[in-house]
Amino acid sequence: MKTVVIGGGASGIIGALKASEHDEVIILEKNDKLGKKLLLTGNGHCNYWHQNIDVSAYETDSKEVLTNILTPVNINKVFNYLLSIGIYPKEKEGLLYPYSNQAYSFREVLEQNIQKNHIKVIYNAYVKDIKKEDNKFIISFNEETLTCDKVIISTGSKAYPKTGSTGDFYPILANLGHKLNPVYPALTSLKCQGDFMNIWSGIRTEARVSIYVQDKLKKEEVGEVQLTDYGISGVCVFNLSSIASAHLSENVKIKLNFLPYVKDFSSWLLQRSNLLPNYTLEEIFESVFSYKLNSIFFHQAKINPKAYYKSLTTSEIKALENAITNFTLDIIDTGDFAKAQVCKGGISLMDINPLTMESKVISNLYITGELLDVNGICGGYNLAFAFISGFIAGDYHA
Ligand SMILES: Cc1cc2nc3c(=O)[nH]c(=O)nc-3n(C[C@H](O)[C@H](O)[C@H](O)COP(=O)(O)OP(=O)(O)OC[C@H]3O[C@@H](n4cnc5c(N)ncnc54)[C@H](O)[C@@H]3O)c2cc1C
Repeated sequence: MKTVVIGGGASGIIGALKASEHDEVIILEKNDKLGKKLLLTGNGHCNYWHQNIDVSAYETDSKEVLTNILTPVNINKVFNYLLSIGIYPKEKEGLLYPYSNQAYSFREVLEQNIQKNHIKVIYNAYVKDIKKEDNKFIISFNEETLTCDKVIISTGSKAYPKTGSTGDFYPILANLGHKLNPVYPALTSLKCQGDFMNIWSGIRTEARVSIYVQDKLKKEEVGEVQLTDYGISGVCVFNLSSIASAHLSENVKIKLNFLPYVKDFSSWLLQRSNLLPNYTLEEIFESVFSYKLNSIFFHQAKINPKAYYKSLTTSEIKALENAITNFTLDIIDTGDFAKAQVCKGGISLMDINPLTMESKVISNLYITGELLDVNGICGGYNLAFAFISGFIAGDYHA
């Protein structure tokens, strides 16, 4: 049996390694290296797994199919498989990295195994099309063709295209009869409207970030937010970004609570002013937020920062509370595909057999990784899905 894996990223490499246990395997990779995107992951540290992989960390068009892919058995099998090929993990708050802390060494381990398993890799092979004739696949790349019995398509999404993932197989698989769900940038920053952004640019602070579409709360996250000259960024913003990109035309707002652990703002402020009776408001807030952020809050609340707490009216206290705990931003755009870490949408999971990752439309054709309509939050979930789906596809043989 001859298997061709199209795309030598996270998912395709694991698929090829497993398939090589029973088939002759060739990887066709567009770049002159394998796993170019892997090198960028986790800021170069490669957060490749999460201790608690669960369907709730993902968006997809079929939670049912995803549940049947991410079974506890499959999760354990693939985790142990990565150990068995040489990945030595280090855990930090549930997130797993290679002990070396280097994405480069993670990719080297995969490369070593490609060589040990005698897998042929054809580099600079840009696959343009596939056809199926008489139970064989004919794969066209560059000016050549290759024939095989089984094909695993692991070409990724169109996020971060400079890594080679340019969404080439969305139209090819759609033309072959697969359902393609709309594709949006995800795990990306948000662009906002406002004249205060060049003041707050560069600040990192803790906040509860809540996203609203048509005034309905969709999701919230608490964590570090990076305030930038165009809007907001950081892990918890990334985790909400797919909602913004899918609903951009529908009045998307973000509300920031810069005191996420304070239950009652007015009692909190009263307590602080009792503790610091001779302090002005700006002095009371001096060590709470950065100077620049305080100036934005006082400006928004129309309060003189030199005023004392006892001179504030109830409505001024409310205005300050609103500025600090309910800071509302109109979202005008998200980061684009060029900088997004993943894509929301893709080839429908409804077209996939979760036991094998085989297409339900074309037999012996397998689809894995981010090309599918599965995207996870930050924390190692996306690479884990790429590995698990690649493993299942490579492992299966009739
Ligand atoms: C900056 C950044 C940081 C990230 N950090 C993390 C993280 O820390 N943890 C995490 O879990 N996820 C992270 N991700 C997401 C993760 O990298 C992806 O979800 C994962 O790589 C998807 O794997 P894949 O194999 O499906 O696709 P890819 O890794 O994108 O691989 C697809 C491969 O197919 C090749 N290809 C494409 N088209 C063709 C063609 N026509 N012919 C031949 N070859 C082709 C490409 O060149 C590429 O090598 C990050 C992503 C980015 C961009």
